[in-house]
Amino acid sequence: MPINYTQIVRSLPSSVPFVGPEAQERELDRIFDARIGANESVFGPSPQAMEEMKKAMNSIWMYGDPENFDLKLAIAKKHNLNAENILVGEGIDGILGYLVRMFVEQGDNVVTTDGSYPTFNYHVNGYGGILIKAKFKNDHENPDELVEKANSCKAKIMYVSNPNNPMGTINNANTIESILENLNQETILCLDEAYADFVPENELPKIGETNKQVLRMRTFSKAYGMAGARVGYCIGHPDLISSFDKVRNHFGMCRVSQIGALASLEDKDHLNLVIEKVRNSIQKLETIAKENGCEVIPTYTNFLAIDCGFDGLFAKKVLDNLVSNGIFVRMPFTSPQNRCIRVSAGTEDDMELFKKFFPIALNEAKRL
Ligand SMILES: *Cc1c(COP(=O)(O)O)cnc(C)c1O
Repeated sequence: MPINYTQIVRSLPSSVPFVGPEAQERELDRIFDARIGANESVFGPSPQAMEEMKKAMNSIWMYGDPENFDLKLAIAKKHNLNAENILVGEGIDGILGYLVRMFVEQGDNVVTTDGSYPTFNYHVNGYGGILIKAKFKNDHENPDELVEKANSCKAKIMYVSNPNNPMGTINNANTIESILENLNQETILCLDEAYADFVPENELPKIGETNKQVLRMRTFSKAYGMAGARVGYCIGHPDLISSFDKVRNHFGMCRVSQIGALASLEDKDHLNLVIEKVRNSIQKLETIAKENGCEVIPTYTNFLAIDCGFDGLFAKKVLDNLVSNGIFVRMPFTSPQNRCIRVSAGTEDDMELFKKFFPIALNEAKRL
């Protein structure tokens, strides 16, 4: 008996788009000494949030609030918005899935940047959308080309990650704002701002909640140090936000995660401390890169793209050597961005290990 998958599912490969460090650890049969490859925050969540989450374990037998009411209010307050402007979901990754489900039918066009954050593409494929890709320009996403492509194919969604992952670069507030002046009215702009907490306020665009064409994605996974809790949110016009209720998994949010995110919003000191520690760590990474004769891409995030100086094959050898020495890092998928490796901010111990093993990895790559 054949298994009656949908046509879309029949056409797709089974894949895990990001091979997790756990899979690599199983294969290497060792635990990474430095986990600085997934842009997680090694500095962890707010101690207050951890305390609240421990207490919340007693109530884990209850479902979480399907409206995420308290958390939505607190997020709205952080942004001087109303709760109707906020959707809470299972990380940005989960929300991107709902977004695509709301707008993309089989055969619809969607625009993104080749080599930019891939999870969005995975959702588009899963709903049968057609990905049309702009190119990086000087390691930045290129709004001119993105808009031109979105307009000419009447894209349902145009995805922009700002700051960008994997390069860490940003398009400034004016540039992003001007996208909306030029984008045709049928395209939704999905602004993935996973790293917004690391960006000075005046570098972020002043758009969103009054415009029915924009949805801005934020997360507790990076600066708030709660990647494993899976809490993301989306800012937008109430009409767009309420439409998510048609498709979202209403009980998808873990109760403990809701409580932890709420508590972490109240601990601004911890957030500021993390931002400072990230800045210090990035400076160390820059110094290590330069000591080894490598250029870096200026970053607005908690990670740094280090240009290993040659092509993607060379950078892959550097990466493989680091991994074999217990240092988890990643690299961009597309050329010429894949001349770089992408290293997340880490503890002082992590930086010491990177300082020790990066020159070894570079030498080994040159020898091979
Ligand atoms: C890390 C990252 C995400 C994932 O966010 P979650 O809330 O953990 O799903 C989304 N977008 C970009 C650009 C990221 O770098």
